[in-house]
Amino acid sequence: MEDPVRRGQSGSVRAKPPVWQKGKVVGIIVETPETNTLQIEVPDPTPFLPGQYYNIRIPIEGRPRPIQRAYSIGSSPFPNYSVVDVGIRETPGGLVSPRLVRESFVGQELEVRGPYGAFTWTEQDGGPVLLIGAGSGVVPLMAMIRYQVSKGLSTPMHLLFSSKGYEYVIYRDDLERLESENGWLTVSHAFTRAPGDERCRYHRRIDKEMISEVFHEIDPKVAYLCGPPEMVEESEKVLLGLGMPEEAVKTEKYD
Ligand SMILES: Cc1cc2nc3c(=O)[nH]c(=O)nc-3n(C[C@H](O)[C@H](O)[C@H](O)COP(=O)(O)OP(=O)(O)OC[C@H]3O[C@@H](n4cnc5c(N)ncnc54)[C@H](O)[C@@H]3O)c2cc1C
Repeated sequence: MEDPVRRGQSGSVRAKPPVWQKGKVVGIIVETPETNTLQIEVPDPTPFLPGQYYNIRIPIEGRPRPIQRAYSIGSSPFPNYSVVDVGIRETPGGLVSPRLVRESFVGQELEVRGPYGAFTWTEQDGGPVLLIGAGSGVVPLMAMIRYQVSKGLSTPMHLLFSSKGYEYVIYRDDLERLESENGWLTVSHAFTRAPGDERCRYHRRIDKEMISEVFHEIDPKVAYLCGPPEMVEESEKVLLGLGMPEEAVKTEKYD
Protein backbone atom coordinates (compact mmCIF):
# COMPACT_ATOMS: atom_id res chain seq x y z
CA MET A 1 0.00 0.00 0.00
CA GLU A 2 1.09 3.56 -0.70
CA ASP A 3 3.19 5.27 1.97
CA PRO A 4 0.94 7.72 3.84
CA VAL A 5 3.70 10.26 4.19
CA ARG A 6 3.38 11.71 0.72
CA ARG A 7 4.98 15.10 0.36
CA GLY A 8 4.53 17.46 -2.58
CA GLN A 9 7.23 19.72 -3.95
CA SER A 10 6.32 22.35 -1.39
CA GLY A 11 6.79 19.81 1.40
CA SER A 12 3.09 19.85 2.29
CA VAL A 13 1.06 16.68 2.62
CA ARG A 14 -1.30 16.14 -0.31
CA ALA A 15 -4.60 14.64 0.63
CA LYS A 16 -8.07 14.29 -0.83
CA PRO A 17 -10.62 16.52 0.94
CA PRO A 18 -12.53 14.29 3.36
CA VAL A 19 -16.15 13.40 2.62
CA TRP A 20 -18.67 11.41 4.64
CA GLN A 21 -18.48 7.71 3.86
CA LYS A 22 -20.16 4.57 5.12
CA GLY A 23 -17.46 2.77 7.07
CA LYS A 24 -17.95 -0.78 8.33
CA VAL A 25 -17.04 -2.03 11.79
CA VAL A 26 -14.84 -5.06 11.11
CA GLY A 27 -13.62 -5.64 14.66
CA ILE A 28 -14.14 -4.54 18.26
CA ILE A 29 -11.45 -4.74 20.92
CA VAL A 30 -12.45 -4.29 24.56
CA GLU A 31 -9.58 -2.22 25.98
CA THR A 32 -10.85 -1.36 29.47
CA PRO A 33 -14.22 -1.41 31.30
CA GLU A 34 -15.11 1.89 29.61
CA THR A 35 -13.09 1.95 26.38
CA ASN A 36 -13.45 -0.01 23.17
CA THR A 37 -11.46 0.10 19.97
CA LEU A 38 -13.66 0.05 16.88
CA GLN A 39 -11.84 -1.17 13.80
CA ILE A 40 -13.50 0.58 10.90
CA GLU A 41 -12.96 -0.27 7.27
CA VAL A 42 -13.14 2.88 5.17
CA PRO A 43 -14.29 2.23 1.56
CA ASP A 44 -12.39 5.13 -0.03
CA PRO A 45 -9.57 5.82 2.42
CA THR A 46 -7.21 8.79 2.39
CA PRO A 47 -3.67 8.20 3.70
CA PHE A 48 -3.46 9.55 7.23
CA LEU A 49 -0.60 10.58 9.48
CA PRO A 50 -0.01 9.15 12.99
CA GLY A 51 -1.93 11.37 15.44
CA GLN A 52 -4.81 12.36 13.15
CA TYR A 53 -8.50 11.76 13.83
CA TYR A 54 -11.77 10.91 12.11
CA ASN A 55 -15.21 12.33 12.69
CA ILE A 56 -17.99 9.84 13.30
CA ARG A 57 -21.67 10.76 13.16
CA ILE A 58 -24.65 8.74 14.31
CA PRO A 59 -28.40 9.31 14.28
CA ILE A 60 -29.85 10.03 17.73
CA GLU A 61 -33.55 9.66 18.39
CA GLY A 62 -35.27 13.04 18.76
CA ARG A 63 -32.47 14.89 16.95
CA PRO A 64 -33.16 16.24 13.43
CA ARG A 65 -29.60 15.57 12.23
CA PRO A 66 -26.90 13.02 13.06
CA ILE A 67 -24.56 14.07 15.87
CA GLN A 68 -20.83 14.02 15.15
CA ARG A 69 -17.78 13.65 17.37
CA ALA A 70 -14.04 13.45 16.76
CA TYR A 71 -12.12 10.23 17.53
CA SER A 72 -8.38 9.81 17.16
CA ILE A 73 -6.91 6.95 15.20
CA GLY A 74 -4.88 4.59 17.38
CA SER A 75 -3.48 2.43 14.59
CA SER A 76 -0.52 2.98 12.28
CA PRO A 77 -1.29 4.15 8.75
CA PHE A 78 1.53 1.95 7.51
CA PRO A 79 1.22 -0.45 5.77
CA ASN A 80 -2.61 -0.32 5.75
CA TYR A 81 -4.57 2.90 6.08
CA SER A 82 -7.91 1.51 4.90
CA VAL A 83 -8.85 0.14 8.34
CA VAL A 84 -8.69 2.72 11.12
CA ASP A 85 -8.78 1.76 14.80
CA VAL A 86 -10.55 4.44 16.83
CA GLY A 87 -10.34 4.21 20.63
CA ILE A 88 -13.54 5.40 22.26
CA ARG A 89 -13.94 5.98 25.99
CA GLU A 90 -17.48 6.15 27.30
CA THR A 91 -18.19 9.63 28.69
CA PRO A 92 -20.94 9.17 31.30
CA GLY A 93 -24.07 11.06 30.25
CA GLY A 94 -22.64 11.71 26.77
CA LEU A 95 -24.73 11.56 23.63
CA VAL A 96 -22.42 9.71 21.26
CA SER A 97 -19.63 7.84 23.08
CA PRO A 98 -21.86 5.57 25.25
CA ARG A 99 -23.71 4.46 22.13
CA LEU A 100 -20.48 3.76 20.23
CA VAL A 101 -19.00 1.84 23.16
CA ARG A 102 -22.11 -0.11 24.22
CA GLU A 103 -24.10 -0.58 21.01
CA SER A 104 -21.58 -1.07 18.20
CA PHE A 105 -21.31 -4.48 16.56
CA VAL A 106 -19.19 -6.15 13.92
CA GLY A 107 -20.80 -5.57 10.54
CA GLN A 108 -22.35 -2.25 11.61
CA GLU A 109 -22.21 0.66 9.15
CA LEU A 110 -20.96 3.93 10.61
CA GLU A 111 -20.67 7.28 8.88
CA VAL A 112 -17.09 8.50 9.06
CA ARG A 113 -15.14 11.41 7.62
CA GLY A 114 -11.42 12.04 7.80
CA PRO A 115 -8.58 12.22 8.34
CA TYR A 116 -8.14 15.56 10.09
CA GLY A 117 -5.62 17.24 12.35
CA ALA A 118 -2.15 18.70 12.57
CA PHE A 119 -1.23 16.80 15.76
CA THR A 120 1.06 14.41 13.93
CA TRP A 121 4.43 12.77 14.27
CA THR A 122 6.56 11.05 11.65
CA GLU A 123 10.30 10.39 11.48
CA GLN A 124 10.68 13.82 9.85
CA ASP A 125 9.73 15.40 13.20
CA GLY A 126 12.69 13.75 14.94
CA GLY A 127 13.20 13.05 18.64
CA PRO A 128 13.67 12.06 21.39
CA VAL A 129 9.90 12.30 21.69
CA LEU A 130 8.03 12.91 24.94
CA LEU A 131 4.42 11.70 24.76
CA ILE A 132 2.10 12.80 27.57
CA GLY A 133 -1.44 11.44 27.66
CA ALA A 134 -4.32 11.10 30.07
CA GLY A 135 -7.12 8.55 29.60
CA SER A 136 -8.22 8.30 25.97
CA GLY A 137 -5.62 10.97 25.17
CA VAL A 138 -3.25 8.04 24.69
CA VAL A 139 -4.99 7.04 21.44
CA PRO A 140 -3.12 9.31 18.95
CA LEU A 141 0.12 8.79 20.91
CA MET A 142 -0.29 5.04 20.42
CA ALA A 143 -0.61 5.61 16.67
CA MET A 144 2.80 7.32 16.77
CA ILE A 145 4.33 4.41 18.72
CA ARG A 146 2.76 1.82 16.41
CA TYR A 147 3.91 3.75 13.36
CA GLN A 148 7.50 3.59 14.61
CA VAL A 149 7.15 -0.15 15.09
CA SER A 150 5.58 -0.72 11.67
CA LYS A 151 8.31 1.32 9.97
CA GLY A 152 11.16 -0.29 11.93
CA LEU A 153 12.30 3.09 13.28
CA SER A 154 14.03 3.61 16.60
CA THR A 155 13.58 7.25 17.63
CA PRO A 156 13.61 7.33 21.46
CA MET A 157 10.07 7.76 22.80
CA HIS A 158 8.85 8.07 26.36
CA LEU A 159 5.17 7.84 27.22
CA LEU A 160 3.98 9.45 30.44
CA PHE A 161 0.46 8.08 30.77
CA SER A 162 -2.14 8.88 33.40
CA SER A 163 -5.00 6.45 34.07
CA LYS A 164 -7.40 5.87 36.97
CA GLY A 165 -5.78 2.50 37.73
CA TYR A 166 -4.30 -0.65 36.24
CA GLU A 167 -7.53 -2.01 34.74
CA TYR A 168 -8.23 1.37 33.10
CA VAL A 169 -4.92 1.52 31.21
CA ILE A 170 -5.90 1.65 27.55
CA TYR A 171 -3.63 -0.59 25.37
CA ARG A 172 -2.08 -2.00 28.57
CA ASP A 173 -0.97 -5.38 27.18
CA ASP A 174 0.22 -3.92 23.91
CA LEU A 175 2.23 -1.23 25.70
CA GLU A 176 3.83 -3.80 28.00
CA ARG A 177 4.79 -5.96 25.04
CA LEU A 178 6.06 -3.09 22.90
CA GLU A 179 8.14 -1.70 25.77
CA SER A 180 9.76 -5.09 26.39
CA GLU A 181 10.46 -5.63 22.67
CA ASN A 182 11.74 -2.17 21.77
CA GLY A 183 14.64 -0.47 23.54
CA TRP A 184 13.56 2.93 22.18
CA LEU A 185 10.24 2.87 24.08
CA THR A 186 9.84 3.55 27.78
CA VAL A 187 6.56 4.06 29.63
CA SER A 188 5.83 5.74 32.97
CA HIS A 189 2.35 5.13 34.34
CA ALA A 190 0.64 7.49 36.76
CA PHE A 191 -2.42 6.04 38.52
CA THR A 192 -4.76 8.61 40.01
CA ARG A 193 -7.08 6.30 41.95
CA ALA A 194 -4.96 3.32 42.93
CA PRO A 195 -2.97 4.15 46.05
CA GLY A 196 -0.51 1.38 46.88
CA ASP A 197 -0.60 -0.25 43.45
CA GLU A 198 3.04 -0.95 42.64
CA ARG A 199 2.48 -1.39 38.91
CA CYS A 200 2.86 2.33 38.31
CA ARG A 201 5.65 4.85 38.78
CA TYR A 202 3.51 7.67 40.15
CA HIS A 203 0.37 7.79 42.30
CA ARG A 204 -1.04 11.16 41.35
CA ARG A 205 -2.21 13.26 38.44
CA ILE A 206 0.38 14.50 35.97
CA ASP A 207 2.16 17.47 37.55
CA LYS A 208 5.19 19.70 37.26
CA GLU A 209 7.58 17.52 39.30
CA MET A 210 6.67 14.41 37.32
CA ILE A 211 7.15 16.11 33.95
CA SER A 212 10.46 17.67 35.05
CA GLU A 213 11.75 14.29 36.20
CA VAL A 214 10.89 12.56 32.93
CA PHE A 215 12.09 15.56 30.91
CA HIS A 216 15.57 15.41 32.41
CA GLU A 217 15.74 11.65 31.82
CA ILE A 218 15.03 11.77 28.10
CA ASP A 219 15.94 15.33 27.00
CA PRO A 220 13.10 15.56 24.45
CA LYS A 221 13.35 17.56 21.25
CA VAL A 222 9.60 17.32 20.58
CA ALA A 223 6.61 16.72 22.85
CA TYR A 224 3.02 15.64 22.16
CA LEU A 225 0.36 16.27 24.80
CA CYS A 226 -3.16 14.90 24.54
CA GLY A 227 -6.16 14.64 26.84
CA PRO A 228 -8.39 16.92 28.91
CA PRO A 229 -7.74 20.63 28.18
CA GLU A 230 -6.58 21.43 31.73
CA MET A 231 -3.94 18.67 31.74
CA VAL A 232 -2.72 19.64 28.28
CA GLU A 233 -2.46 23.35 29.11
CA GLU A 234 -0.69 22.76 32.44
CA SER A 235 1.77 20.31 30.89
CA GLU A 236 2.50 22.66 28.02
CA LYS A 237 3.33 25.46 30.48
CA VAL A 238 5.72 23.18 32.34
CA LEU A 239 7.55 22.15 29.16
CA LEU A 240 7.87 25.74 27.96
CA GLY A 241 9.16 26.65 31.43
CA LEU A 242 11.77 23.90 31.09
CA GLY A 243 13.01 25.60 27.93
CA MET A 244 11.28 23.74 25.10
CA PRO A 245 10.50 26.04 22.18
CA GLU A 246 6.79 26.60 21.51
CA GLU A 247 6.91 24.96 18.09
CA ALA A 248 8.33 21.77 19.63
CA VAL A 249 5.31 21.26 21.90
CA LYS A 250 2.25 19.90 20.04
CA THR A 251 -1.13 19.69 21.74
CA GLU A 252 -4.52 18.06 21.17
CA LYS A 253 -7.32 18.89 23.60
CA TYR A 254 -10.31 16.59 23.99
CA ASP A 255 -12.90 19.28 24.76
C1 LIG B 1 -9.58 16.18 18.08
C2 LIG B 1 -10.33 15.32 19.09
C3 LIG B 1 -10.03 13.98 19.17
C4 LIG B 1 -10.70 13.18 20.08
N1 LIG B 1 -10.36 11.86 20.18
C5 LIG B 1 -10.98 11.09 21.09
C6 LIG B 1 -10.60 9.72 21.24
O1 LIG B 1 -9.70 9.21 20.57
N2 LIG B 1 -11.26 8.98 22.16
C7 LIG B 1 -12.26 9.51 22.94
O2 LIG B 1 -12.85 8.78 23.73
N3 LIG B 1 -12.62 10.81 22.83
C8 LIG B 1 -12.02 11.60 21.92
N4 LIG B 1 -12.40 12.91 21.78
C9 LIG B 1 -13.57 13.40 22.54
C10 LIG B 1 -14.86 13.05 21.76
O3 LIG B 1 -14.86 13.78 20.53
C11 LIG B 1 -16.14 13.43 22.50
O4 LIG B 1 -16.03 14.76 22.95
C12 LIG B 1 -16.42 12.49 23.69
O5 LIG B 1 -16.54 11.16 23.24
C13 LIG B 1 -17.73 12.91 24.39
O6 LIG B 1 -18.77 12.88 23.46
P1 LIG B 1 -20.23 12.44 23.89
O7 LIG B 1 -21.16 12.76 22.75
O8 LIG B 1 -20.27 11.07 24.42
O9 LIG B 1 -20.54 13.41 25.11
P2 LIG B 1 -21.31 14.82 25.07
O10 LIG B 1 -22.74 14.62 24.72
O11 LIG B 1 -20.54 15.75 24.21
O12 LIG B 1 -21.23 15.22 26.57
C14 LIG B 1 -19.97 15.45 27.21
C15 LIG B 1 -20.19 15.66 28.69
O13 LIG B 1 -20.96 16.82 28.90
C16 LIG B 1 -22.10 16.51 29.67
N5 LIG B 1 -23.24 17.27 29.12
C17 LIG B 1 -23.74 17.20 27.88
N6 LIG B 1 -24.76 18.06 27.75
C18 LIG B 1 -24.87 18.70 28.92
C19 LIG B 1 -25.73 19.71 29.42
N7 LIG B 1 -26.68 20.25 28.67
N8 LIG B 1 -25.54 20.13 30.68
C20 LIG B 1 -24.58 19.60 31.47
N9 LIG B 1 -23.74 18.64 31.06
C21 LIG B 1 -23.90 18.19 29.81
C22 LIG B 1 -22.33 15.01 29.50
O14 LIG B 1 -22.96 14.46 30.64
C23 LIG B 1 -20.94 14.51 29.37
O15 LIG B 1 -20.35 14.27 30.61
C24 LIG B 1 -11.72 13.73 20.90
C25 LIG B 1 -12.01 15.10 20.80
C26 LIG B 1 -11.32 15.88 19.92
C27 LIG B 1 -11.67 17.35 19.84
